[in-house]
Amino acid sequence: MTELEQFLTGRIWLRDFMPFAQKEVDAAISAGKIGIKKGITENKECARCLEKSPQKIISFYCANCQGICYYCRHCLKMGRISSCTELIYWADPSPNPQSPHSFTWNGVLTNAQQRASDEVLESLSLNQSHLVYAVCGAGKTELLFPPLAKALEKGQRVCIAAPRTDVVLELSPRIKAVFPDTVVHTLYGGSPEETGFATIVVATTHQLYRFEDTFDVIIVDEADAFPYSCDPSLERAVMKAKRSEAPIVYVSATPSDRLLKEISKQSRIFSRFHGHPLPVPRFQSLWNYKKTFARNKIPILLTRWIEDRLAKKEPFLVFFPTIELIEQVVPLFKMLNERIEAVHASDPGRKEKVMKLRKGELPGVLTSTILERGITIPNIQVAVVGADESIFNASALIQIAGRAGRAPDFPAGDVVFFHNGIVRQMDKAKRQIISYNRGEFV
Ligand SMILES: [Zn+2]
Ligand SMILES: [Zn+2]
Repeated sequence: MTELEQFLTGRIWLRDFMPFAQKEVDAAISAGKIGIKKGITENKECARCLEKSPQKIISFYCANCQGICYYCRHCLKMGRISSCTELIYWADPSPNPQSPHSFTWNGVLTNAQQRASDEVLESLSLNQSHLVYAVCGAGKTELLFPPLAKALEKGQRVCIAAPRTDVVLELSPRIKAVFPDTVVHTLYGGSPEETGFATIVVATTHQLYRFEDTFDVIIVDEADAFPYSCDPSLERAVMKAKRSEAPIVYVSATPSDRLLKEISKQSRIFSRFHGHPLPVPRFQSLWNYKKTFARNKIPILLTRWIEDRLAKKEPFLVFFPTIELIEQVVPLFKMLNERIEAVHASDPGRKEKVMKLRKGELPGVLTSTILERGITIPNIQVAVVGADESIFNASALIQIAGRAGRAPDFPAGDVVFFHNGIVRQMDKAKRQIISYNRGEFV
């Protein structure tokens, strides 16, 4: 395989944005190695993200083709696609390169993990999709290692997709460590360029728009938003990137009802790998906390909770419903300890702050829901401020509570939901966690 073929196999890419010399690309097109598609089809559908709603496919006067053109607003961030831009793909793919893989994991699965792992293997051998429904801290990633190793052994190309960059960044090094001889690409918005033919792609779901008909297995991690009607783009991206008959392994701690109904092959793990129960959240009223913050004070019960963590040197996360509130209160928390930091989705320093929290260089972090999943920090203590706000639905609250008590040395961990009145989603989350601990399904 030439470098050009390695890059383009399985991909669909803007011709103008190829990281190769134009001459080389043009030669491959002339030789029929590379195919070309129009960016927006005659039916006004985006060929990259398959968007076709008239609200997203917008007409404009195009200087390039001197007439009316359409562009896709949905995938605009990946470089504008319009009727007169060209997408290219490798038209004549070779079989996946058969390079040897090694599998260097020597951990031990719990009985529950082992059973689920075997069940996933069996489904994949029958080309059937599978749902792993496992609580936070069940050890979902480890149980996927043997099925992944099997797929590589069969010469398959595998994708692990997760909805958020944070999750991708946590997963990718673990995969690379277990499969040290395998080319693994890590793709997310703004990720550094990768070279070679990746047998494993770890990517945010949106990056899958740039692939077509290529993966033999797709693992959809954190799949609870999938296949939600409110985010059909996620589903489209996965379906487009995989080969038509390729099975999907869905992994979730809080799967949607639809997923539970539609995927008949399922494994369920309601206990953590270390055998200790999930920390059950406790409810604590924090009446009119917004007014207290507005007077530049932290509510006394919250102050006590933070001071308690600082005194015991326990790392903590405090979740807030809005970025505005976080920005308003950061200075107040810095008066308790100046090293307390805040993160949110558009914070470029997010990765670094989480790393510092993990290393014990920060005492605690105030956060939006962005850190509700994918984060594992030993002995972390968790508080939610405004757990009654609608942004914290039961799934989000279960995920947040699931940050605590993950390490075998610190299996307990405090989880407190500060609220201004208990709401149904809080009750639902708590009931569900208790039922997991009993090994029941609600
Ligand atoms: Zn598009
Ligand atoms: Zn045009």
